Amino acid sequence: MKILVTGGAGFIGSHTVLALLESNYEVVVLDNLCNSTYVAIERVEALTGKNISFIHGDINCSNTLQQLFAEYDIGAVLHFAALKAVGESVQYPYKYYENNVSGTLCLLQAMHYADVNMFIFSSSATVYGETSVVPYTESLALGSPSSPYGASKVMIERMLADSAIAHPNFQAISLRYFNPIGAHPSGVIGEDPKGIPNNLMPYITQVAVGRRKKLSIFGNDYPTKDGTCRRDYIHVVDLAEGHVKALDWLQKQTEFSGVEAFNLGTGTPVSVLEMVDTFIVETGQNVPYEFSPRRSGDLPEFWADSSKAQKELGWQTQLTLTDMVIDTWRWQKNNPNGYE
Ligand code: NAD
Ligand code: UDP
Repeated sequence: MKILVTGGAGFIGSHTVLALLESNYEVVVLDNLCNSTYVAIERVEALTGKNISFIHGDINCSNTLQQLFAEYDIGAVLHFAALKAVGESVQYPYKYYENNVSGTLCLLQAMHYADVNMFIFSSSATVYGETSVVPYTESLALGSPSSPYGASKVMIERMLADSAIAHPNFQAISLRYFNPIGAHPSGVIGEDPKGIPNNLMPYITQVAVGRRKKLSIFGNDYPTKDGTCRRDYIHVVDLAEGHVKALDWLQKQTEFSGVEAFNLGTGTPVSVLEMVDTFIVETGQNVPYEFSPRRSGDLPEFWADSSKAQKELGWQTQLTLTDMVIDTWRWQKNNPNGYE
């Protein structure tokens, strides 16, 4: 039995493919490489000494999916493939609904026809919306995220719930990630955003490596300790391990059908200034920064209660904020232009 990983060439997908191979799962990756490169796959193969079956294709293509499920004996699908730029989604909502929502629908239909019933979905803390109290627990109702990107995650979670009602064999997990950063400790794979990074950590490392002049810190007048926003940053290697635990858990369930959501975070919020300071101290690199106006849609702070994942999946984070910054820096220093 093989595991299909959609979006497996991307940042979180490539680290998860590596973790799956290290746990002796066989992996098939489907990726259209719209935000990644095949080099990431080659590097995971080199790191593990194992082969990855790779299909260059789109989750929105029913024919590709039909052929894939006919050719490979797929036991479960880990679904990372999505567009993820929040700001871009506000500008191009149709693109996001087509890629993320229609794409997932197409995938779920193909799985249904092929009688593949295990599904692990890359969800996000954004599904809690803008008014939930912190820390976020899975028992909170789904919120109303302001961006089409966030809305696409809520819609997909709703589709999973409806699939489970209609199809009693369907077994799904939504993993709600908080803020994934870091890189594999080898420094060989990592996050490689195209264009100007939207997220904090890649921006910091691109400033440190000299690709950008200075970091703009969006807002220093939030009601937090130092006035900057606080987030729950999680090392991508811990996050990848969460997927392996989720898959192991699904395979052990004899009675379970339906959808379970699990938060994956550390439970400890870190402010933008704390992140910049930690990076400077731990790497010895200079990161010039300036304060600029708030970014529209940013919440002051949120973090995870991940006790459900700890209790039910036996998962908890192992890596510290220091590991996150050191590993990210090793990747960026060794690959100043990413995979290029
Ligand atoms: P990424 O862009 O690095 O990876 C996504 C991968 O999916 C890329 O390789 C891309 O080429 C591929 N892809 C996109 N659309 C596709 C399509 N239609 N068909 C086939 N392949 C397609 O992003 P990531 O950071 O690794 O995120 C992975 C998943 O985790 C996404 O679903 C994202 O929404 C979710 N997530 C990410 C974060 C984060 O901060 N990185 C936080 C919460 C949730
Ligand atoms: N941030 C910042 N400058 C940047 C990018 C991000 O100050 O160039 C801040 C952003 O305002 C937020 C935090 O860093 O408070 C984390 O942002 P990111 O986009 O990484 O994650 P998200 O907003 O999705 O939680």
